[in-house]
Amino acid sequence: MEVLKLDHIGIAVKSLDDALPFWRDVLGLKEAGIEVVEEQKVRVAFLPVGDTEVELLESTDEDGPIARFIEKNGPGVQHLAFRVDDIESAIAYMLEKGMRMIDSAPRYGAGGARIAFVHPKSSQGVLVELSQRED
Ligand code: ZN
Repeated sequence: MEVLKLDHIGIAVKSLDDALPFWRDVLGLKEAGIEVVEEQKVRVAFLPVGDTEVELLESTDEDGPIARFIEKNGPGVQHLAFRVDDIESAIAYMLEKGMRMIDSAPRYGAGGARIAFVHPKSSQGVLVELSQRED
């Protein structure tokens, strides 16, 4: 498995409308688009910065993973995503190393990426996303 870069930082927000004024207008990051990912019950805004991105995540469902995260922890940093060259081999590598995976097969995330989450129990409490994306 090769990690190519920090792909993005996922931040759970209660509302994109309330969050964007800080990230976009105060920090001055450019909003590169908003997308709904039905499967994960989120509305996502991307704000590229240097070689990485800030990903703001708003829940579209009170039972979604982001809604549950905010209920438990409040809004804030929710996951770190690392770009990998090959998602299948990255999952196989993690399993071989004895890591617990939330996803043992890739699924589709925002931006058409193929992603898999490592269980935070295997990564010192940090939810780690592995992401393969062509661009
Ligand atoms: Zn993500």
